[in-house]
Amino acid sequence: MPEQNRELKNRVREIRSHGSVRGQGRNGLALLGRMAIDESTLKLTWLGGTVNALFNWAYLRSRRSYFAAGAYPSEIFLELTSVCNLKCPMCPHKTMKRKAGHLETGLAEKLAKELSQHHPMLRQLGLHGFGEALLHPELGTILSMLRRRLPTTRLSVGVNLASARAEQIDVMFDNGITEIGVWIDSIREETYEVQRAGAKLKKTLEAVEYVLERKRRSESAYPLFHIGMILTRLNEGQIEEFVRFWRERLRGVRGVGLYSTRAHNFAGEMCEEDLLLRPRSRYYVNRPCSMPFQQVLILSSGEICFCCYDVEGETSAGNLREMTLGEAWRSEKARRFREEAARTEFRAGLCKRCEVKRFHLLDGRPKPTEYISYRETF
Ligand code: SF4
Ligand code: SF4
Repeated sequence: MPEQNRELKNRVREIRSHGSVRGQGRNGLALLGRMAIDESTLKLTWLGGTVNALFNWAYLRSRRSYFAAGAYPSEIFLELTSVCNLKCPMCPHKTMKRKAGHLETGLAEKLAKELSQHHPMLRQLGLHGFGEALLHPELGTILSMLRRRLPTTRLSVGVNLASARAEQIDVMFDNGITEIGVWIDSIREETYEVQRAGAKLKKTLEAVEYVLERKRRSESAYPLFHIGMILTRLNEGQIEEFVRFWRERLRGVRGVGLYSTRAHNFAGEMCEEDLLLRPRSRYYVNRPCSMPFQQVLILSSGEICFCCYDVEGETSAGNLREMTLGEAWRSEKARRFREEAARTEFRAGLCKRCEVKRFHLLDGRPKPTEYISYRETF
């Protein structure tokens, strides 16, 4: 077992021995438990089935607009590269089987042409997938081409900045990116360097300082800059100090924000599931998933997929080299995948293993103190 994994497992064991494992399955559910439930789902009995059906009917009605696929997706994720400089334990990148590589600039151009003709009002184009976008050797060329062809689209990128040089950061600033997000996760060296395995906190903070310095010098709030925290068992309980640390440094800088999100299991592909912050209740119903109605992920190889957690490209409807995005979006495969997602049948392997579709009863929402309010902006 690699050194990194051993270190990580020790850390998780240590956390557990301090008693921070949350209680599960309390809250008066014992009665329901005796009547209906197996280990993991309410679906197995008439009661569970009824609860699930009612819940999903209400959910679908309340979010009708999310479950109508237009002619094009409202959000596109374009994986500029699947090469990464880190080996984060919560990310499936380190066990990814497909070949890592950079997106061809010609493919990005083909997509941009199609979008500028048929979907010029695209809301959001995220330039990341499973990899560090800054490592793409033609990042500047791609960014300026996208900005020229899609002047109103929000171009965003999530990066780790772990090995970022000043020139790479300049490339983002000088070519019209709208939003840069960086995951720092913890301001404690011993946590950060395990959760962001391969990175050094000191070096990342220097890169962040360079971004902030460029923003201070600029008249504009753009590009927006968000510092994020992926919550796992490693950084559990560190939110307050994280916010305090950054509030201080972000004061007076325009267009900056903090946010946090709980790590999920990447549709069953997550490497170290022990790191997940488990919900307090183990009883859940499957809810419909709106992801394939709104988003696509185009992998660096050109495969067009219908879920952003699809690390291996299992849901691909075809390759951008051989078809257009519009054709893939309206294909029979896409239609079938959406049908299953809306019905919560999830026969497709990827969705079967996914926990995003689970709605935990009596524990649907995290406590407000566990989260930084989304995009708290100063
Ligand atoms: S989470 Fe991001 S930085 Fe970490 S290994 Fe995955 S792709 Fe790389
Ligand atoms: S259920 Fe999970 S794996 Fe399936 S489309 Fe939704 S987010 Fe992706």
